Amino acid sequence: MENCLFCRIVRREIPSRIVYEDDLVLGFYDIEPKAPVHILLIPKAHIASLNDLTQEHSDIMAHLTLVIPKAAEKMGIKDSGYRVVVNCGRDSGQAVAHLHYHILGGRAFGNDFG
Ligand code: 5GP
Ligand code: ZN
Repeated sequence: MENCLFCRIVRREIPSRIVYEDDLVLGFYDIEPKAPVHILLIPKAHIASLNDLTQEHSDIMAHLTLVIPKAAEKMGIKDSGYRVVVNCGRDSGQAVAHLHYHILGGRAFGNDFG
């Protein structure tokens, strides 16, 4: 998608601090971290949100999910634990319409998802 922020990051038109990359996914630091470690993991292909997933995305989503613990290990939070957040749509506060996993760690989280 031409003007999608995260597609532009994939194309290196906007700089980011990349922590993981393979053919299908990209992981990079969130620009406004909400925890000592806060990275975003995205499919390189443009998928706007969870609501836009189809059966055709099964392989890429399985892969994206399998990369989560690899990225967490690389960031040093695999054993201490981490939170994975996906926002979808208006009420969630999703600001960027390109599906992304937030991976947050380096501190303890409560059970308040407020
Ligand atoms: P959302 O609210 O859509 O789930 O999360 C979007 C995330 O993208 C936010 O945490 C925000 O800080 C992050 N973000 C917004 N613009 C940029 C950017 O240009 N670069 C990076 N690395 N992160 C961004
Ligand atoms: Zn996109």
